[in-house]
Amino acid sequence: MNALEYVPVPAFEDNYIWLVSDGRNAVAVDPGEAAPVQAYLAKRGWRLSAILLTHHHRDHVGGVADLLKGQSVPVYGPAGEAIEHLTYRLAHGDRVSIAEPALELTVLDVPGHTSGHIAYFQASDPRGTPHVFCGDTLFACGCGRLFEGTPAQMLDSLDALAALPGATEVHCAHEYTLSNIRFALACEPGNAQLVAWRDEAAARRARNVPTLPTTIAHERAVNPFLRAGEPAIQAALADQLHETVPDRLTAFALMREWKNRFR
Ligand code: ZN
Ligand code: FE
Repeated sequence: MNALEYVPVPAFEDNYIWLVSDGRNAVAVDPGEAAPVQAYLAKRGWRLSAILLTHHHRDHVGGVADLLKGQSVPVYGPAGEAIEHLTYRLAHGDRVSIAEPALELTVLDVPGHTSGHIAYFQASDPRGTPHVFCGDTLFACGCGRLFEGTPAQMLDSLDALAALPGATEVHCAHEYTLSNIRFALACEPGNAQLVAWRDEAAARRARNVPTLPTTIAHERAVNPFLRAGEPAIQAALADQLHETVPDRLTAFALMREWKNRFR
């Protein structure tokens, strides 16, 4: 089997619309706008064969109607959210089989950012690498804001993503990495791998290169929202926020609130 290509197409200020292609056909994940997708497909001579949606926010679904004009393309999305144009309504454990490009995906419920948010896990590409498309749940060195869910829901969702194989390539929907790293360093200044990643990520952004995909193993090592149980992080939170931090859920909730106002 031929290799698949995973391309982050920039949209809006800082969104990525991921395209997965076998060189002829492409699947688009979370096309918040149509024009950048259409331009990229035209440049490569690819045909759109399916659309995958993770949640209902405008910057993830806004391009669907235009992409469907003049063509019939199946649209996969969460059963638990009000989204137009869905062909298939998915929930935890559902399988998605796409013929071209050949993709077998498993659906994970990952509520927190929105209440019906789903992620798509591909256990193996033709080279044996796993992939996950996680929308606005897990970001490089960060996680989504809690618009509709509770800290406990989001922590469960992040735990489920963190439990995927370490080699899993993580295809997040935003380029938030540099600001996330600044916050992560406030939570865990002594994390040497995080310090090294700051320099590497800054160098990539200076060349206008995406910092994504990241991997689950890397996120476990540097992402403070996957490390809420670390004593060093809990001590930093207690110190910075003058709070007692009795457990990892409290640590996670305090960290998420702190991030909302962190500049
Ligand atoms: Zn969102
Ligand atoms: Fe978003």
